[in-house]
Amino acid sequence: MLNVLRNIVQEVNGAKDLESALHILVARVQQAMKTEVCSVYAMDQENRRFTLRATKGLNQEAVGNVSLSLGEGLVGLVAVREEPINLDDAASHPRYRYLSETGEERYNSFLGVPIIHHKRILGVLVVQQSARRKFDESEEAFMVTMSAQLAAVLSHAEAAELVLESDHSKDSKIKHDVIIKGAPASPGIAIGTVVVLSPTADLYDVPDRNTENVEEEIHRFQSAIEGARAQIKQVGEKLADLRPEEQALFDVYIRMLDDDALGSEVVRRISENKQWAQGALRDVILEYVAHFDKMDDAYLRERATDIKDLGTRVLAQLQDTIELLPEQNFPDNTILVSEELTPSMLGEVPENKLVGLVSAKGSANSHVAILARAMGVPTLMGAADLPVKQMEGIELVVDGYRGRLYTHPSQKVRDQFQAIVEEENALVEGLEAIKDLPAETPDGHRLSLCVNTGLITDALRSLDRGAEGVGLYRTEVPFMMKERFPSETEQESIYRKQLETFAPQPVTMRTLDIGGDKALTYFPIEEDNPFLGWRGIRVTLDHPEIFLLQVRAMLKASVGLDNLKIMLPMITSVSEVEEAQHLIYRAHQELLDEGVAVTMPQVGVMIEVPAAVYLAKTLSGIVDFISVGSNDLTQYLLAVDRNNPRVAELYDSFHPAVLGALKHIADTAKENNCTISVCGEMAGSPAGALLLMAMGYDMLSMNATNLPRVKSIIRSVDTIFAKALLEEVMVMDNPQIITSTVELALNKLGQGRMLGPTVSA
Ligand code: PEP
Ligand code: MG
Repeated sequence: MLNVLRNIVQEVNGAKDLESALHILVARVQQAMKTEVCSVYAMDQENRRFTLRATKGLNQEAVGNVSLSLGEGLVGLVAVREEPINLDDAASHPRYRYLSETGEERYNSFLGVPIIHHKRILGVLVVQQSARRKFDESEEAFMVTMSAQLAAVLSHAEAAELVLESDHSKDSKIKHDVIIKGAPASPGIAIGTVVVLSPTADLYDVPDRNTENVEEEIHRFQSAIEGARAQIKQVGEKLADLRPEEQALFDVYIRMLDDDALGSEVVRRISENKQWAQGALRDVILEYVAHFDKMDDAYLRERATDIKDLGTRVLAQLQDTIELLPEQNFPDNTILVSEELTPSMLGEVPENKLVGLVSAKGSANSHVAILARAMGVPTLMGAADLPVKQMEGIELVVDGYRGRLYTHPSQKVRDQFQAIVEEENALVEGLEAIKDLPAETPDGHRLSLCVNTGLITDALRSLDRGAEGVGLYRTEVPFMMKERFPSETEQESIYRKQLETFAPQPVTMRTLDIGGDKALTYFPIEEDNPFLGWRGIRVTLDHPEIFLLQVRAMLKASVGLDNLKIMLPMITSVSEVEEAQHLIYRAHQELLDEGVAVTMPQVGVMIEVPAAVYLAKTLSGIVDFISVGSNDLTQYLLAVDRNNPRVAELYDSFHPAVLGALKHIADTAKENNCTISVCGEMAGSPAGALLLMAMGYDMLSMNATNLPRVKSIIRSVDTIFAKALLEEVMVMDNPQIITSTVELALNKLGQGRMLGPTVSA
């Protein structure tokens, strides 16, 4: 049964559009369930009616012509109750509604299951029989499993359908203003043209793209085949001690590449359809794969894996030849779209051309989103329904405030969003006036507002915004932009630029924080639970050579400037701090011995792990400063993966447990007179900053975009007021109510505009 299920899901997944997906679905389920009828009723989200979209067994003329409202008939009842209905005599059920167009009167038994994706009902899958019998438990279980697995596939196909031009009919029309939702990950509005980037060689991620130069594409394809052939041969030779049957597999691979069928089919598609090589290769390989996958013979089914592997190798070769799109191929207003955006992809687009980012995977707390905020690029993450492959070249509006995108925007939508852009620009210009004024409350409490940086470009932006230094320099960012560990001299020059840019103001450099979702291509860490694994200080203490080299580079870079602070990430135990401090002293001493006149910088730790919250007393006694990484602290306290869009709604730094931890850290560290700051994203949210100030944090570090807003709020709120508000929310148990209470207070103070624009589109 599992195989049948898997095959159906794969086939539906491979369908070229929603209509064929639904046809395949009903045909295959009817066959697998051995019923006379299988139909699917899909919910029209606009009028909330269920229309018969495909059937095997009922009258075909009824398709598209009969529909039921929510709660109407048995289908509507399945949808309302959100559970299966299994009847041996459907007509005798009080809710039965006879649809004469379908010819269903012959069928007595009825089993309907809802198709639900992320709490949203997409449709109802129904099987019917003339024999009067209840479907048994295993049949019902099969249908429930089937519909659960298909929900995501259908939701995806549905979104694709909405976004794309329908190519079945001559009078195809573009649908304007189709909305796709995701998580708002970096505020702002982007209006531009999509460029799709694929992370690694993955056939399923290849976007559609046309070519103007057929000859060149064919040539690229043929060279890629050559490359793949040489590579396979080389791998085969390297593994000389393989068993003969394994060696034979390499020979089979090479013969497959020699076989004209596969290659010539790709070439044919490039020239006839004017498709680029990657797209033609994807189509041919996936058709072969689907063909083999359907075979009942296990050996032949396995060949599907071989073909996919072969196709992926050729694809990797093709990607190598155009690793980067030539600069001129990026439109002026590029919106980068990917199945999974990675930090390094941001570097692929010339900075002056990048206006927006959209990722199907990830969340607002992913590192790529953090970088996007630092760069001020409007971003949408976790847009699970995004039909990435088919989006190349289309026009979009990205609404980074509410987490929505609009495809093929109409003039009306463009105008609405253009008005928001102008309103925002006016706000930013207005905030220019306070750029050089201190972040001081009307009753004289002074706070320091710093920025989080990673690239030199965001460092430069920060100065325009009135930053008083860097509260978090993520050193892993320059590491990610390289193809190997940067040398001591390379690091020294990168760090020097940061330090010089801000001198005499302080720059807090965090030692390398890799692992989790921050991977270095040249130092891969493969783990089942990366966020609970080898991360941050754990990696660098295991590799003192990497740590020492980095610290030496930081210290050398600070000579004569003396504005360096060093910060240790992911601290869980006191012994880690002691070990790291020891290495820092060692590096310092080594440099003194080498005659370099370095001063010992302040050394602090991040509190990001719940264990460290309970060590706040000890930690604040042995370090120069503490900075709370509220992003990871929220993730670990709430046990919510910060990258996982499925649980993104549970991730909330205003959760009372997080606020309680933050307050505890502040109170405890103050007893030891230790300087405390927050450098997670919460510090840059107007409401978060207000509460953190009330808790007594001395410094807040945030992205440059939000800094002027936060300053405006601080300059308008008395500490007495902020403390009273904090007291009020600390006894609340609901994060949403806490947020609303703080935002309402800001509104009353006339600071509502700082929370972001009201979008009415
Ligand atoms: C944090 O965890 O809050 C933090 C600032 O570090 P990062 O987001 O880089 O993990
Ligand atoms: Mg962190």
